[in-house]
Amino acid sequence: MSFSEEVYRQVSLCSRCGYCRNACQTSEVRLSESWNPRGRIILVADYIDKLLGDVSEDYSDRIYSCLLCGRCESYCPSHVQVVETMEKAREILVKEGFASEKVKSISENIIGTGNPEGLPRKRIYRGVNHAARGKTLLFRGCTASLHTVDDLRAAEMLLRSAEYPFFEFPDEICCGYPLEVLGYEADASRIYSRNHQKMMEAGVKKVVTACPYCYRVLHERYPRHIDGFEVEALHIIDLFNELMDEGKLTPIMSVDLKVSYQDPCALGRGSLYQELARHFIERVPGVRLMENEDSKSKCCGAGSYLPHLFPKIYQEIRTKRVEEFISVGAQAVITSCPTCLYTLREASKNKLIAVDGLSSLLAISVGLDSSVSKKN
Ligand code: SF4
Ligand code: SF4
Repeated sequence: MSFSEEVYRQVSLCSRCGYCRNACQTSEVRLSESWNPRGRIILVADYIDKLLGDVSEDYSDRIYSCLLCGRCESYCPSHVQVVETMEKAREILVKEGFASEKVKSISENIIGTGNPEGLPRKRIYRGVNHAARGKTLLFRGCTASLHTVDDLRAAEMLLRSAEYPFFEFPDEICCGYPLEVLGYEADASRIYSRNHQKMMEAGVKKVVTACPYCYRVLHERYPRHIDGFEVEALHIIDLFNELMDEGKLTPIMSVDLKVSYQDPCALGRGSLYQELARHFIERVPGVRLMENEDSKSKCCGAGSYLPHLFPKIYQEIRTKRVEEFISVGAQAVITSCPTCLYTLREASKNKLIAVDGLSSLLAISVGLDSSVSKKN
């Protein structure tokens, strides 16, 4: 087994300048070189050059503790693709038998039960709009169906209230993203094919999701793995903006709150979604955006399964995130990612700041029931 040409290329592109180091949140809480992007790239280079003997647990930890947030990439003058390099390095670690037991258990859970936490199907939210066939599928995603059902219900209510035709699979399984990023590409590919087959049998042409990870994998990776994949993938922000433009959802109730927005890593740093989400929030009467460079565009701490793999680092990062939001004067944090939502809610317990999803914010403003800003 060897690294691909692309990994060699990325590793050689890195000039070791270190401009990326301060961007990395794992490095912020673990102050040593091997926890930052440059250190991780050097570790991959050392592996390629066979400077290491057997891979140690410490080595594997450095590669698996990367949040895959991509923040370092926006500071890199050489345009090194750190995220893709880490994903490829993990693939090798898995193939050579160096993945930790925790990593293995996440992949076994997905393959065995259809969700990363290995929970029985009856514990998972099944949606409300079931049908055997339909053109537009609402893909709920595991995290929303397990941990942030309130925001998912708000999305369903909004789509129904706008009379937007959609349906849901009651027995939906994981999108497959965690398998690919943890190094199990072949298993991920099998899940992609299984989901695609089901969509084809149901006549699906478009899939909408409120989860940035599901969106990203459906938009980028399904077409890469499946010949002739022609299902359009949409993040729900796009759809809600469209429905507001058409006058089918009108935010009229004032939500008098100072809010910060948590950008989901999977929607891309510097992408159009960062603007779209803020535009969305500003359409809600009464809301004021409170942000500065420190409070923007950072990972919540839960990227790449850190809560399961490195709970202590995860807790330190999520606590810092909440403090950053409080320091800019926000009364609430709004996000468009179930993983960020769950993480920041957990971190904000006992703090005077609320955390909610974009769907809940919109639901309250159009006059539907919602949970937004319970703390205020
Ligand atoms: S992707 Fe994020 S966590 Fe990983 S090395 Fe870069 S900044 Fe650090
Ligand atoms: S900024 Fe880019 S080139 Fe510089 S050390 Fe980091 S990854 Fe390497």
